[in-house]
Amino acid sequence: MTHTSIENNIAKLRLRLRQSVEKYDRQESDILLMAVSKTRPAADIREAYACGLDQFGESYLQEASKKIEELADLPLTWHFIGPLQSNKTRPIAEQFQWVHSVAREKVARRLDEQRPAGKPPLQVCLQVNISGEQSKSGVSLAGLPALAEFVESLPRLRLRGLMAIPAATDRETDQRAQFARLREAFSALQSQHPDMDTLSMGMSADMEAAIAEGSNLLRIGTAIFGPRRG
Ligand SMILES: *Cc1c(COP(=O)(O)O)cnc(C)c1O
Repeated sequence: MTHTSIENNIAKLRLRLRQSVEKYDRQESDILLMAVSKTRPAADIREAYACGLDQFGESYLQEASKKIEELADLPLTWHFIGPLQSNKTRPIAEQFQWVHSVAREKVARRLDEQRPAGKPPLQVCLQVNISGEQSKSGVSLAGLPALAEFVESLPRLRLRGLMAIPAATDRETDQRAQFARLREAFSALQSQHPDMDTLSMGMSADMEAAIAEGSNLLRIGTAIFGPRRG
């Protein structure tokens, strides 16, 4: 029986994860692994599912909708992690279980209004701009408490935590400094929002730093599926 590259990649990733949780004294079972499947065909997602993954992240709505439909026979959890436009929230509210990129009240309000009544509340992470760069999306640290309070007031949304995409750097100390800012913001908010339980940080190139700083939801694309073509 030959092993596919996705299967091999997942085995390597699990090893990396295990080494890292040991190094930083974390529990592997506390860390949820999301496979970021943007630009990948549905067949790749089936393969990853066969290897035990059931959380999938997508960034582009049209592409995601097609795959969600194609894979409706599998018990998958879909996370929207891409840029959110307020005029395109409806399909996201209808098709996804999680959204990680909420950064504006207007978008939150629309997702709340558009979440179908028959479904459980939409699980929401607020995307925070931790690098402070103007070009990066996300709510500022200063704007975060008000946005969290607003989302908490919406009945069809459930505030689960925070997400960030740090400025790219391959120095682990710089990666950790950025993730530490998100962790600190998370801890500060927890006094007002004790049900918040999710720190969504860490991608293929910085998952060790994220684990060191307390991540409990990794968003991994390249290390599972290989380099993106699209
Ligand atoms: C693409 C993407 C990822 C995955 O990045 P990799 O480097 O391929 O692991 C994670 N989070 C977000 C928000 C993304 O857009």
